[in-house]
Amino acid sequence: MSTIKKVNLLGLTRSKMEQFFADMGEKPFRAKQVMQWIHQYGVSDFDQMTNISKVLRTKLADIAEIRVPEVTYHDISSDGTRKWVMQMEGGSSIETVLIPDGNRGTLCVSSQIGCALDCSFCSTGKQGFNRNLSAAEIIGQVWVAVKSFEDIDPEKERPVTNVVMMGMGEPLLNFDNVIDAMDLMMDDFAYSISKRRLTLSTAGVVPAIKKLTGLTDASIAISLHAPNDELRNELVPINQKYPISELLEAVQDYLGSLSDKRKATIEYTLIEGVNDQLELAHQLVELLKDLPCKINLIPFNPFPQSDYKKPSGNAVHRFQDVLVAGGYVTTIRSTRGDDIDAACGQLVGKVTDRTRRSEKYIPLKQHSG
Ligand code: SAH
Repeated sequence: MSTIKKVNLLGLTRSKMEQFFADMGEKPFRAKQVMQWIHQYGVSDFDQMTNISKVLRTKLADIAEIRVPEVTYHDISSDGTRKWVMQMEGGSSIETVLIPDGNRGTLCVSSQIGCALDCSFCSTGKQGFNRNLSAAEIIGQVWVAVKSFEDIDPEKERPVTNVVMMGMGEPLLNFDNVIDAMDLMMDDFAYSISKRRLTLSTAGVVPAIKKLTGLTDASIAISLHAPNDELRNELVPINQKYPISELLEAVQDYLGSLSDKRKATIEYTLIEGVNDQLELAHQLVELLKDLPCKINLIPFNPFPQSDYKKPSGNAVHRFQDVLVAGGYVTTIRSTRGDDIDAACGQLVGKVTDRTRRSEKYIPLKQHSG
C-alpha cells in the first residue's frame, strides 16, 4: 500500500487539471470531461465516469480522489433559505447558506474556519480562527449545494445563480485558494457563474485587493460599516492598518482594471446608536462620491455575545433615504433564514480556536442534528 496522499481533483482549476492529466501522459480534454462529471453531474466516484476508459479510471483511482465536504447538518428555513453545516478535516465545521429569490439562488460561501479579523459586530470573529479552507473545501460548498437539487432539470432551473464570498472568514487572507475556487465557479466546465454574479467580499485587505487585478474579474464588495476612520477603526480593526482612503483607492483601481463598467457594493451593517446616525449617512454620501458603487444596508443581526442592537425599521429607512437622495442605489438586505440562524453574522460553525480569543466569550448554543 502506498502512503502517498491522493490528489483531490475537486479543487483543481481547469489549468491545474490539464497539468494533472499531462503529467499522467493523458490528453488535456480529459480535464474537461472529469470537471463536468464532478461539478455538473455531481459525481464523486471515478467508476461513474462512463466516457473514460476502465483502464484510465483505475489509474485515476490509484492516485486521485474526489473528496467532498461532509455535511453534518442541513436545514431549510420557512422562507426557503437552506443552511448546511459541513465538517472539515480536523473536526471544525463551517456553514454555507443558499438564499432563493425568484429565479435567483444566491449561495453564501465560507473561505476560512473562523476569522482572524475580529470585527466587533460579527459572530464569526468571536469564534476565533482555526485555518484556511483549501480550494476543494471552498468549491465543495458549491458542489454540495448544487447536488442537493439533484432531482431538478438543470436545463430549466439553476439552483445556484449567484455566489457571494460572504460566509465565514476573510477571503483575501486565503488568497490563492479563494482565487482557484472562484475560477472554478466561473468555469463553463464547472458552474458557469457569471463574473457579475460572483462577488468577493472583503473587510479591506488593501495589498490583496491590489493583487486581484489581472487574476480575477469577479465583482467586489467592501464591508465598510463606517464613513470615517475613527469609527471604522473600532468596528473593523483592520482599518487601523489600511485606512479608508487607501481602501477606496484600491477598489477604484480594481474596478478600473475590469473590461466592463461595474460598480462595487458597499456593505454597511447598521447598528443602533453606533453607526446609524443620519450625520454618518451624509458623510457616506460625500465619502463615496468618486466611486462607482451601490450601497447595501444590513440591519445588525443580534447574536448571544453581543450587546449591539438592531435599529428600528424606520431608522434604517431614514438612513437609506439620505443615501438615495445623495444619488446612490441603496438596498436594504432583508433578513432571510434567521429562524435557522442562517442570517449574516450568525454563521458560526464549530471552530477550534487557535487564537484563544473565543475563551473570553460565553459559549454559543450548539447545533443539534
Ligand atoms: N470578511 C469578509 C467576508 C465576510 S462577509 C467581509 O468582511 O466582507 C460578512 C458580511 O456579513 C459582512 O459584510 C458583514 O457586514 C456582515 N455581518 C457580519 N456580522 C453581522 C451581523 N451581526 N449582522 C449583520 N451583518 C453582519
